[in-house]
Formats: sequence, structure tokens, C-alpha cells
Amino acid sequence: MAGREDLKDKKRIVIKIGSSSLTHQETGRINLSKMERLVRILTDLRNEGKDVILVSSGAIAVGKETLGLQNRPTEKVEKQACAAVGQARLMMVYQKLFAEYNQVPAQILMTKYTMINDISRENAQNTFQELFRMGVIPIVNENDTVTTDEIEFGDNDTLSAIVTALVNADLLILLSDIDGLYTDDPRQNAEAVFIDFVERIDDRLDSMAKDSSTLVGTGGMATKISAAKIATGSGADMIIANGEEINIINAIMAGEKKGTFFQAHRNENFKLLDYISTRQYSNK
Ligand code: GLU
Repeated sequence: MAGREDLKDKKRIVIKIGSSSLTHQETGRINLSKMERLVRILTDLRNEGKDVILVSSGAIAVGKETLGLQNRPTEKVEKQACAAVGQARLMMVYQKLFAEYNQVPAQILMTKYTMINDISRENAQNTFQELFRMGVIPIVNENDTVTTDEIEFGDNDTLSAIVTALVNADLLILLSDIDGLYTDDPRQNAEAVFIDFVERIDDRLDSMAKDSSTLVGTGGMATKISAAKIATGSGADMIIANGEEINIINAIMAGEKKGTFFQAHRNENFKLLDYISTRQYSNK
């Protein structure tokens, strides 16, 4: 049975990093040394001959900080303006860091519409393939500036699982501010047990996740479980791990027991569109 010892042989890897892992907790400013280490590790994976995609959050967080706003914006239009400012700045930093290692990155911004529309989806797929062929590392985010409620993924856990399925990746690593999956919230229940291996997402796990307050809540465990369903159903293994120490990526690839490992279960009838819901679009 394939497991952690086979992770080193993965050929196409999607790594998702959350805003909290890219910024300093105290100030909200960009954590440059962490981004620098992330970029070095991704370039090394690429140098090993693997195809690598980074799904990076942080547009709104970096935009907020750049604009000197005190609080994270709550109004949609304010969030979109922050994302417009922050996404450009984020990419500027990534470009600069990747250039140090002679690695070319690219930016791909998506909405649900990109996935629902057959032509857009095929175009995105072709672009990814061409970038892999060229040795480029695509950096993906939701196109927060133009999303509406009807077409937003809302969280990059889901987006990264959808990208994993779209490009037929064989591994998704979700780096978050939590260690992985517990049977209960370890901050409230000292008896909570860490789950390091999930062979199959069964009804029990599903219903535990739905009440995410009973699992570690901060990273939104429900979205992570639904991301795991998409990724594992498409045929990829998935790992949720704590992105506080970015070298954890190397440890994971070396097969060390870090984070929670969800085993792939390729579903022969897997259809990406089954996992993308949209509310009826209205012009009102
Ligand atoms: N797309 C959002 C951003 O870049 C983040 C979404 C998420 O954190 O899941 O700010």
C-alpha cells in the first residue's frame, strides 16, 4: 500500500500556503525569511525534476498591510481593493526571491467561473501544462478582485484541491496554522488525539468536520476535509501540516510522520464539476 515512504517519488506537487504562514503574527507584515525559505525549497523540488505549483494566499493580508489599514477589511469592495494591491506586491516579492535561484514563476488567478466554463477550464489546463513543460512554477490564487459571491471559492484549501485535480497532481500539501487533524479541539480537550493517517474519509470523519468546533477550528477543518475529498478522489495523496516551520515540506517529502496524511482513492467516476457548486447568477 502506498504511503509516506513513496512521497519522495511524487512527480507533480501542489503546495498551499495560508496568509497566516506568510505574515508575522504580531505585525501582519510579510515574513520575508520564511518566503525566502519556501521559494528555495520549491525551486529545489523543481530542480529534482518535479512539477510544482504554489497556491499562495496573502493578497488581502498583504494589501491591508501595504495600505496601512488597522483591521482586516470586512466590506467586499474593500477586500477586493486590498487584494488588487496585495496580489501585485506578493508577486513582486515572489519574483524577486525566485530570481535569486534562477527560477521563473508565473501567476494564475482563477475564479469558479474558470472551472465551470469548459473553454476557460481547458485553457487553464493547457496553460498549466505549457508552464510545466517550460519549467516554470505557477503561483495560483483566487482572483479576489473580481469574484462575486456566486463565483468565489472563498478559501484556498478548496481552490488548491481543485487545481490538484485539474492538473492531475499526485500530491497536495496544505500548510496551515494547525498541526493536522485531531479527534477533538486540543486547546479545549486534553484528551484530543492526533490523527496521523486517514485511509478513507468516512461518515464519522465527515460529521466531525461539519461541526468544526469539535476539531481544531482556526484553519476551518470542514473546508480541509472537503478539500481532501476532492484531492484523494482525483487520485492524489494529501497532507495537512503546520506551516510554521517551512522546512516541514522537506520532512514530508522524506517520508517523516508530519501532519495528517490522507490516502489517495482514485474514483473512476471522478468529475471535477461535481465538487463545484454555484449559486444561480443574478444581475440584481
Ligand atoms: N485568496 C485570499 C487571499 O489571497 C485568501 C483565501 C484563503 O486564505 O483561503 O487573500
